Amino acid sequence: AERARLAAGRGPGRTSDGHPVKLLLNIGSAADLRPGAEGVGLFRTEFLFLDRTTAPSFEEQVAAYAEVFARAESVIVRTLDAGTDKPLPFLGLPGEPNPALGVRGLRVDRLLPDVLDTQLDAIAEAARKTGAEAWVMAPMVTTTAEATGFAKRARARGIARVGAMIEVPAAALRAGRLLRELDFLSIGTNDLAQYTFAADRQHSALADLLDPRQPALLELIAMCARAGREAGKPVGVCGEAAGDPLLAPLLVGLGVTSLSMAPVCVPAVREALAGLTLADCRERATAALA
Ligand code: PEP
Ligand code: MG
Repeated sequence: AERARLAAGRGPGRTSDGHPVKLLLNIGSAADLRPGAEGVGLFRTEFLFLDRTTAPSFEEQVAAYAEVFARAESVIVRTLDAGTDKPLPFLGLPGEPNPALGVRGLRVDRLLPDVLDTQLDAIAEAARKTGAEAWVMAPMVTTTAEATGFAKRARARGIARVGAMIEVPAAALRAGRLLRELDFLSIGTNDLAQYTFAADRQHSALADLLDPRQPALLELIAMCARAGREAGKPVGVCGEAAGDPLLAPLLVGLGVTSLSMAPVCVPAVREALAGLTLADCRERATAALA
């Protein structure tokens, strides 16, 4: 029966001894949705608006979000993640000498607060229209003050669950404090590695520093997972590491509660977890940390 379930590629992810691990999708639009996962763990909304030179209207945004809400069981929407390194022409952001360390992700709100207000309004409206429970998170959250401000604005609109991506080491170090303000965390290992090792995530000569098995990165992930366990709140991973069948068990062993990945990765991760006990996963995590 277990093999049939795996072959069908459906149902919750779990280890061979039944420990549940939510398997979720990373998508850029409704067109990326595929069956076989429990929902969407990262809806990268900037992909909807990449080539726009004018700001998407409230109505256009409602339509785009509602399409995903109507077709997926549960959806975590990430608010726009733009900057000079991820340009959205309609924002008209000024050039910067160090884009990765500059105004990107939630930081854009410092220059253009209306953009986030309109997006949160549109997400709330799309949830109302479809009867979905919206989960929303912000990219590049760095301080508790930023998380508090974001949560206040999202909750004022009736958004059900508010979280943050953990992509900056300062935020990982304060995960427990952040979870007093937030309902969940989602670890973006791509950026968290970049900022932990001070290594450009695009730089192939630095690949060893960006390897998710680096113990310093694993320590930060373990710290976030522990904070989640103590708060009784979900802490997932949505960076590329979550979709790697060799790394996924390690992340589960560190204590994360969900893995969100490109749809094509789900079957292999599901199978990898189904072949190991939770104790096996923990052993891998302990060995990697050592
Ligand atoms: C990450 O940084 O790990 C992440 C999931 O966000 P993105 O790759 O979109 O920056
Ligand atoms: Mg990121």
